[in-house]
Amino acid sequence: MNAWIITVGDEIVSGFAADTNSVYLAKKLAGAGITVSRKTSVRDRVEEIAAEIDAALGAADLVLMTGGLGPTSDDCTKTAVCRSFGVDLVESEDILNRVRERYESRGLEMPRSGRSLALVPAGAEVLPNPIGSAVGLKMRRKGSTLYVLPGVPGEMKAIYEGSIEPDLLTLEGRACIKARELRTTGLAESRIAELVEPVAGDLGVSLSYLPRPEGVVLRLIAMCDTEAEAGRLLGRATAAVRTVLGDRLYSERGEELHFVVGRLLIESNRTISVAESCTGGLIGHLLTEVPGISSRFMEGVVAYSNQAKIRDLGVDREVIEVFGAVSEEAAKAMAIGIRRRAGTDIGLSTTGIAGPTGGTAAKPVGLVYTGI
Ligand code: ATP
Ligand code: MG
Repeated sequence: MNAWIITVGDEIVSGFAADTNSVYLAKKLAGAGITVSRKTSVRDRVEEIAAEIDAALGAADLVLMTGGLGPTSDDCTKTAVCRSFGVDLVESEDILNRVRERYESRGLEMPRSGRSLALVPAGAEVLPNPIGSAVGLKMRRKGSTLYVLPGVPGEMKAIYEGSIEPDLLTLEGRACIKARELRTTGLAESRIAELVEPVAGDLGVSLSYLPRPEGVVLRLIAMCDTEAEAGRLLGRATAAVRTVLGDRLYSERGEELHFVVGRLLIESNRTISVAESCTGGLIGHLLTEVPGISSRFMEGVVAYSNQAKIRDLGVDREVIEVFGAVSEEAAKAMAIGIRRRAGTDIGLSTTGIAGPTGGTAAKPVGLVYTGI
């Protein structure tokens, strides 16, 4: 069972608006066990939209389109659907009454363009829009089902969830898809690939590398006939990755780094304090997001200036003068200073050159020392 997503709109094709609709739909379809085989975007031109519908019908079991259903002159998706299906637009009394009521309930008279919202391609099934005026449409041809949705993301989602999702769950031939996120830190994407690729071939799961600032996330996806089989493949693949990555793999359940760190602090009954320069309090903030951390995280100092490092953390003035505030020696003195001041088991520090200015050849922007 596969699907083709078509998004319609000049602003999408030209890059003035981001196409978030297809991202939402692709995720939803994957969750329902339907493979998205293609996504395309077309301009607001009747011929181009109709040609895209023609190409998609027959090529995919399901075709989902968004955009261009409104009442303005740039909205021509319904005309294109008619062109492709060889039918005419017909007025729906029912929809017309509902559109008129929506205007009147706000004390407004329905504008003339409102009538166009009540026009639907002959033979189309209407999918109600619970939050707006442009209804969704469902039509069948060449063994494919076409769903047409408005471009406004909230309305698109409301119709998808209200009418299409329940429809799809009754379909035969859906695969069972299970995904898992393995989180790593401290290794570059290319190095992880070198380690994982040799074992990845025979695992029967698809693997993607998602680099993030805090580390690379490995997403495993298993597509099988049964949930049990998918679970078994994911378990086997996780074990293989664990063997090659060792403790660089810090979560097998998609848990974020600071939650894992917080949990380890709680479990090991150790307290921590942080002295932050270039991170400006970020580490302290992340720690405070961890439930139950208040008995472990004692104190954070944002010591941005040299003066603050000396006054609040007890860093020796000479250390800063000789080695600089961004140096291994300063990071060490900051960690020792905060640990002593807060009386914690662990003291953690950061000092670095955040940029955009302040870098030199010897200490470029991005150079960071952490002390523990
Ligand atoms: P309307 O009745 O508002 O005219 P419509 O179905 O005609 O709805 P469009 O005119 O294509 O939809 O787009 C309406 C709004 O939805 C615009 O602000 C547009 O940026 C946004 N939009 C359209 N397509 C997408 C998309 N693929 N992803 C995210 N936003 C979109
Ligand atoms: Mg529009």
